[in-house]
Amino acid sequence: MVDGSRSPEQVVTEVEEHFADLLAHGPSATSRSERRQLLRHANRAFVVQYRTFFTRPWARALGNTSDVVLSFSCECARRDCEEQVDLAVADFPPPPDDTSPPLLAPGHDIRWRQAP
Ligand SMILES: [Zn+2]
Repeated sequence: MVDGSRSPEQVVTEVEEHFADLLAHGPSATSRSERRQLLRHANRAFVVQYRTFFTRPWARALGNTSDVVLSFSCECARRDCEEQVDLAVADFPPPPDDTSPPLLAPGHDIRWRQAP
């Protein structure tokens, strides 16, 4: 239960312990390409969620996707990258498929796409 009685780190530890068995036996990304696909999927899920929200008639009075800035995960897919990229939802790279350019933190690259 999240009730403020424990630190965020303690809650994270409890969640990790609770799901440890499932995580140990579940599918995982083993390559940089697979990690990038998961990051893109997670980032895109936020975009879809906000775009869907603003299609509701009552939500249009609250603004639009240009007004919402989110911290998206950098899609360089390095194992040690935990960078976030603050970006308006409306500015997320189109189109909504694998052909759109990756969202990268300053200084991060996508060497996997460079010519050999
Ligand atoms: Zn990165």
